[in-house]
Amino acid sequence: MTVEGKTGAEGARELQINKNASGYCDSPDLRHRELRGGEFWKRIPAYANVPEEMFNDHKWQLKNSITSVDKLLETLADIVSQEFYNDAKAGFAKAPMAVRVSPYALALMNWDDPYHDPLRRQFIPIASSLTPDHPELHLDTLQEQNDSAVFGLTHRYPDKALFLALDICPVYCRYCTRSYAVGFDTDEVSKVKLAQDDKRYQQIFEYVRTQPQLEDIVISGGDAYMLRPSRLKMIGETLLDIPHVQRLRFATKGPAIMPMKLISDQEWYDAVRFVVDKGRKLHKEVVIHTHFSHPDEITEISKRAMDRCMEDGITVRNQAVLQRGVNDEPDTMILLTRRLSYINVHPYYVYMHDLVKGVEDLRTSVQNGINIEKAVRGSTAGFNTPNVVVDAPGGGGKRVVHSYEYYNRETGISVYAAPTVKKDRLFLYFDPFDQLSEDIRAAWRDPKKREEMKNEALAEAQKNVDAAWA
Ligand SMILES: *Cc1c(COP(=O)(O)O)cnc(C)c1O
Repeated sequence: MTVEGKTGAEGARELQINKNASGYCDSPDLRHRELRGGEFWKRIPAYANVPEEMFNDHKWQLKNSITSVDKLLETLADIVSQEFYNDAKAGFAKAPMAVRVSPYALALMNWDDPYHDPLRRQFIPIASSLTPDHPELHLDTLQEQNDSAVFGLTHRYPDKALFLALDICPVYCRYCTRSYAVGFDTDEVSKVKLAQDDKRYQQIFEYVRTQPQLEDIVISGGDAYMLRPSRLKMIGETLLDIPHVQRLRFATKGPAIMPMKLISDQEWYDAVRFVVDKGRKLHKEVVIHTHFSHPDEITEISKRAMDRCMEDGITVRNQAVLQRGVNDEPDTMILLTRRLSYINVHPYYVYMHDLVKGVEDLRTSVQNGINIEKAVRGSTAGFNTPNVVVDAPGGGGKRVVHSYEYYNRETGISVYAAPTVKKDRLFLYFDPFDQLSEDIRAAWRDPKKREEMKNEALAEAQKNVDAAWA
């Protein structure tokens, strides 16, 4: 704020500001504008001599990604303890999800305290943090395969569909909801294959052509970052040429974990820009949906990448996942929301963690989601305030977290209705197992008591639904 060239507190005094109206003048919180810059990767032993140009090359990033414990040790050398290395080795062996971490993400982790680092928690499994899975948890809890109209196209909502174009990503998130298909097979899981196969794609395009209500296609996977530019362009153009298709979204975690690709991979960037421009001329919207989950993931490199998108009119929206020990504190989520807004990424969703195998330590309760929503709302512009949603297990689709029909904090069961998606059905979501009382955990392990708890929740929810619509 400037009064005749005076700024801040000095200017404010002359303005005689009413302090009852605004308590933010003297101590503004501007941390969201403080982005990490400099050659932060040089603290990693294997990257100590990597010059900026090389680090900012996506090909170097892909080639040097960490996919095994040996590679992790080779890269980090003596900055991790033997204890941590052993823990990770056991963690890799037990994880249902393949591991792949970009050098960029690895370099942003705090290796002085890897156990608590929010990025390490998302990408590198360690055995000591594993807790038992909730008994209600299995692969593909969202039942995307059941709602598939043709293989690789989930048509759950009236006017939009999810096209799974491929099954590989530039990094693998431990908590991946699509661990039934994404990433190479692990000791724990042998996966459904979503091949980049033109014949498979043609069937999907043909289905979309026959469905006049479909206006909105999410192109995901896997990750659109890994699509060859020619293929990305072909998918985009083919869908835009279908008269009733109005909106496309390319889903990629890329901007969060390898932002330099948007600058160094001219061909891929040009393919996206081509589809966006083609869409604009047809008055159709083509955007990128990405997946930042923690403010530390946003650096000066991210800002440069997002500035480029801004200049070319490419809209980027964000879908974060609420995770314990990562972003489940109000301060962290507010900082993430403001920092995303600052680099022109719209904070669209914060997802409650899906019921995914082997990552119970990352899940949070519905109550926690509600608390976060209350804390974030009002901290910045309404259009930059994310909706906190539960993707209802069993294929109910996304529901705003506090719109439950019933929530029993003791048993950890919440119940959602989804009238537009599956009329007259109720969907159950479950709070993390390890956060329930000993008695309740014992009840969950008993098949008869387990059914009783679920039936009680369903009956109470049905009463509330009936009363609300009476
Ligand atoms: C999330 C999702 C979509 C898109 O939903 P929006 O709420 O519009 O972002 C479409 N189809 C499926 C199956 C989904 O899971």
